[in-house]
Amino acid sequence: MNIKHHLDEATLFSYVAGAVGQGAALVVACHLSVCEHCQHRVRKLETIGGALLEKGSLSAVSDNSLLHVLERLDAEPLETSVISAPQDSEVPRPLASYVGDSLDDIPWKKVVSGLWIHNLPSQGEGVTRLLRVAPGKTAFPHTHRGSELTQLLRGSYSDDVGRFSSGDVADLDDRITHQPLVDSDHDCICLIATEFPLRYTSLMGKLAQPLLGL
Ligand SMILES: [Zn+2]
Repeated sequence: MNIKHHLDEATLFSYVAGAVGQGAALVVACHLSVCEHCQHRVRKLETIGGALLEKGSLSAVSDNSLLHVLERLDAEPLETSVISAPQDSEVPRPLASYVGDSLDDIPWKKVVSGLWIHNLPSQGEGVTRLLRVAPGKTAFPHTHRGSELTQLLRGSYSDDVGRFSSGDVADLDDRITHQPLVDSDHDCICLIATEFPLRYTSLMGKLAQPLLGL
């Protein structure tokens, strides 16, 4: 597995601090289960967090020193950024307890031609679901009111941010507007957790949103 897109520092930090929602935590856990590079970064953050707690109060840490720590994490040698974590199933272990071991056995619900969804139980305002999109299909351009975390499980897509393949994670916030296009020759399947409903930027998207329930 050749992973090119990783989790954001801020997301990892929130995850380690237990400050992300249930859906986002599931996506982060799924990415970590296949990405040694991000596992390494989490271990470092946990070590730093433990050391800070031992030294005294976390509130004594200035924003600047926190930024410095995060920059140093980024400056770590990148030899682990392209990794091949052994995994016998396309379904990451944290997801398997929800859907079993095969993406093909999931009871997909067809929304429109070339688009299927499978919702996962979630808490709060956010939505956590699996999305399966046929080759050549594109989503309506949209932005987000909060974060959107997407772990690629099969196939690939391209958007304004880059090209995402199996194992990659797209860690997006409300500054990004994108329109993913599936460019693999087979269906693209991904796990998505959104904090809030998406905000479509095109009229077609706005009209279709209530219809698609997306
Ligand atoms: Zn990673």
